[in-house]
Amino acid sequence: GRRLFDPIRQFADKFTMFQAGFTAIERISELLSEPIEIRDPEIYQNAISPGQIISNNQQGGEIRFENVWFAYKAHEYVLKNLDFTIRPGEKVALVGPTGAGKSSIIRLLCRLYEPTKGRILLDGIDIRDIPQAQLRRYIGVILQESFLFAGDIKRNITLGEDYSLDQVKEAAQLTNINQFIEELPQSYDTVLRERGANLSGGQKQLLAFARVAIRKPRVLVLDEATASLDVGTEALIQQALEELLKERTAIIIAHRLSTIRDVDRILVLKRGELIEQGSHEKLLEQKGLYASLYRLQMLGAAELLS
Ligand code: ADP
Repeated sequence: GRRLFDPIRQFADKFTMFQAGFTAIERISELLSEPIEIRDPEIYQNAISPGQIISNNQQGGEIRFENVWFAYKAHEYVLKNLDFTIRPGEKVALVGPTGAGKSSIIRLLCRLYEPTKGRILLDGIDIRDIPQAQLRRYIGVILQESFLFAGDIKRNITLGEDYSLDQVKEAAQLTNINQFIEELPQSYDTVLRERGANLSGGQKQLLAFARVAIRKPRVLVLDEATASLDVGTEALIQQALEELLKERTAIIIAHRLSTIRDVDRILVLKRGELIEQGSHEKLLEQKGLYASLYRLQMLGAAELLS
């Protein structure tokens, strides 16, 4: 069934603001349910400047959660001692029942919240030592519903940042939306209606891909990006997605288990704990939570997963 309360959708709006560059502490606090104070480091104490991980963006992309505990409210841990490393270029899926902590992991990775205990490292650098603007360029996020605003297509892709029209076109081409845009009378200057009301679901998705592609992030976070789309754009989306995933580290929040069989590794979460991990085949053999969730989904009980 359809979920009435969808935290990831609420998160989507918050996150788009985050991506759009509203980094003022006041702004972020306003958007989150609880006030947080995240400051950019004033002095970099690391031997490696965090700038290097961005400028050298053909390499890297290692994500490490080091004994991470997290609670929204004091002593109510929703993530418990998470300890894992995702290798550069590895594709990993997060799986688990609703409330297991999948979205919270992403929020911490994007530093919308900070761990209560433990550390998160990108290429060996504590994310608290990485300026927000760099972190945003390092991690591209594609949610189920991307926020498009009333404004022209170019700006919906650049988010007002300093990219040339050629770069916009290149990103649009990579993500299979160039032809559609170029057939519009106003091409890249075409003004979208609020929330992209004059686009199909698939076109909105491709545009969201282009927004990420132009930033060339090392890490991609996908919230089951290919879910519920029109048949007309399904092949284009699949192809664009493969292009985006190439040589990038990816974390996929999975809802339909059938879509993640091919990932390198599946992390299975239950009540904030990492209880199983491995390939699809290995996890089926283990006959644990993943195997039973998978069996249930094969029986059509899809609503049991978030
Ligand atoms: P998932 O994405 O796997 O469904 P979440 O990370 O959204 O799980 O949620 C993990 C736990 O944290 C749940 O118990 C949820 O109720 C709680 N939670 C999520 N967001 C908040 C919040 N903003 N404030 C307090 N608790 C929250």
